[in-house]
Amino acid sequence: MKLHEYEAKNIFKECGIPVPESFLVSKEDDLTNIDLNKDVVLKAQVLVGGRGKAGGILFASNKEEFIKKAEELFNKEIKGEKVEKILVEEKLPIEKEYYVSIIVDRDAKKPLIIFSTEGGVDIEEVAEKNPEKIIKYHVDIKKPFLPYIARWIVKEAKLPSNEIGKVADIIYKLYKIFKELDATMVEINPLIITKNGDVYAADAVIHLDDDAAFKHNYEGFEEYKNKEKLPFAYVELDGDIAVIGNGAGLTLASMDVINNLGRKPACFLDIGGGAEAETVKLALKKVLENKNVKGIFINILGGITRCDEVAKGIVDVLKEHPNIKFAVRMMGTNEEIGRKILEEHGIPYETSMEEAGRKLIEQL
Ligand code: GDP
Ligand code: MN
Repeated sequence: MKLHEYEAKNIFKECGIPVPESFLVSKEDDLTNIDLNKDVVLKAQVLVGGRGKAGGILFASNKEEFIKKAEELFNKEIKGEKVEKILVEEKLPIEKEYYVSIIVDRDAKKPLIIFSTEGGVDIEEVAEKNPEKIIKYHVDIKKPFLPYIARWIVKEAKLPSNEIGKVADIIYKLYKIFKELDATMVEINPLIITKNGDVYAADAVIHLDDDAAFKHNYEGFEEYKNKEKLPFAYVELDGDIAVIGNGAGLTLASMDVINNLGRKPACFLDIGGGAEAETVKLALKKVLENKNVKGIFINILGGITRCDEVAKGIVDVLKEHPNIKFAVRMMGTNEEIGRKILEEHGIPYETSMEEAGRKLIEQL
């Protein structure tokens, strides 16, 4: 789950990471009531990267300009995402822009802290052109994360001595947030030094681990509240053949079958291992919500998933949707019972996935 910038900055504030003064406005708010007498930055609260470049960051220096820019943002889509909220911040006099992030390095199996004095731009670009400007530190999670580690990082980056303490303190607190919230990534880009030498997190990104949600109370966060909780992995795509499989590998292979037949998948839907009839029913209903779907390709290799359970789910849903075109390929645990259930309801099945795919496309 991704947090909005204003949500991430609220967390920063609570933890003592300095953020610019700000207030939040929503689309339905009456902006004429807002008094404004300083330069501000209007920041669209969308969950896409590269907002600035996509026109999601605007500036205003008086009330009229502020209302005009806010309306402009509310009427805009940033990389396809509608703007519902705008974070209005005091505009700070930026002297320097730094970069800091913490991610999970899956290869090293450790958190990785990345710091660079080249902030404000894409870090990928810095990595390519000035790799020596990037400092990386793998955290040993078996040892306490002590302040000297953060100081070591900023000293490596050769920060001037008057900045070392303040920037190191932010890195130290950022790691605390990363660890305590079970984040998969936290980022401040840019971390700014103002003309007066003050340090602020001018932007804030926090991605939380959905699988750790049970350990936390995430209810307050917008994306969490709006998220549909599905008991399977579902990714909507732009084709017209819904692909349902069990296991990510088999589902991906099923998508290949559809692609090889010259058609495009409408989704990737992995019902996972051991799915029962109820999950299969929910999965079919989910794909049928997408009005582009012309046919459904169901590919099940029974292991802990039982073919009879899958068949029961299919039968239930197809009773309600007699006109939908589909193909079933089913093998493995309780295959015979599963097939019998399908046969009793006149539902054809295949043992070869290529064959099942071909038969489906032929019907369309
Ligand atoms: P992003 O494009 O989604 O990463 O949005 P950011 O919040 O990082 O803002 C993009 C850019 O806008 C920053 O790199 C700054 O150059 C500029 N910006 C943001 N806030 C301020 C501010 O308070 N003062 C000034 N001068 N520029 C700002
Ligand atoms: Mn940014």
